[in-house]
Amino acid sequence: MKKSGKLTVLGSINADHILNLMQFPRPGETVTGSKYQVAFGGKGANQAVAAGRSGADIAFVACVGDDDIGRRIRQQLATDRIDITSVDVVADQSTGVALIFVNGAGENCIAIHAGANASLTPDRVRQHQQSIAESDALLMQLESPLESVLTAAKIARQHQTRVILNPAPAVALSDELLGLVDMITPNETEAEILTGVHVDSDEAAARAAGVLHEKGIDSVLITLGSRGVWLSEQGKGQRIAGFRVEAVDTIAAGDTFNGALIAALLEGQAMDRAVHFAHAAAAISVTRHGAQPSVPWRSEIDRFLQ
Ligand code: ADP
Repeated sequence: MKKSGKLTVLGSINADHILNLMQFPRPGETVTGSKYQVAFGGKGANQAVAAGRSGADIAFVACVGDDDIGRRIRQQLATDRIDITSVDVVADQSTGVALIFVNGAGENCIAIHAGANASLTPDRVRQHQQSIAESDALLMQLESPLESVLTAAKIARQHQTRVILNPAPAVALSDELLGLVDMITPNETEAEILTGVHVDSDEAAARAAGVLHEKGIDSVLITLGSRGVWLSEQGKGQRIAGFRVEAVDTIAAGDTFNGALIAALLEGQAMDRAVHFAHAAAAISVTRHGAQPSVPWRSEIDRFLQ
């Protein structure tokens, strides 16, 4: 039985270790950082948190390690209004880790260890298939094993659950997977990897969107950083500008955009209104540091839009 407006997010959970420094170290060099923080991240968790704080009815399918930080992340997800029944604690595994350097120019450089995220296997996805089956939408990214993303997309298709894919980080994808996707939300780099079109203008974004439509995807949203998003649906494309803000850290901008977008769509907002809402959420997030600490709550987004 479908639960109206319900969302399942399937994806990664990481502990982000963020070090701010003036310049990235070169091979063999040691540099001293100016600020260090451990924040909860991972594209799946960030998007789940963004959807939850935006007001969505959401369940999360993911894995943490059997360690202290994994348990703390699970608890935090619950306080972010997320059903964590399907967030498994995997024995003898560590929680996923991202080591993030942020330099003086605000650029980042990231290395990831999948840890427990690698245990989100197709078998484990099948164990949690009821959540996908009873949802209106399934939102996924690519920090989980690709065969598991494909398995989840197939389950969703069998149960008329809409499949939304944020194809990050950038990898080439099979036509089989793309053919199961209803809505895709790449950034410019990811759009180029998927289509071969270098997205440096609205016209190029329209061409990249055309390639993705040909693969069978109905709705294409190419996020363009501070320039907003290229939205292409039913043969019509348009750029919807974002908000001008003083950006301090764009970590999780795309994740916040995705979670807020789906939350707004599931409560029945039209696509252009939902994009506007998601732009507001993402704009707030870039004015703050870190991944999940930067994700705004619904009340903050509504106030920003007043
Ligand atoms: P990603 O973080 O996945 O690379 P983008 O950089 O394209 O994604 O950003 C996603 C969304 O975040 C944009 O569509 C926009 O809404 C918002 N955003 C990103 N950077 C800025 C910025 N500098 N100012 C305002 N909004 C931004």
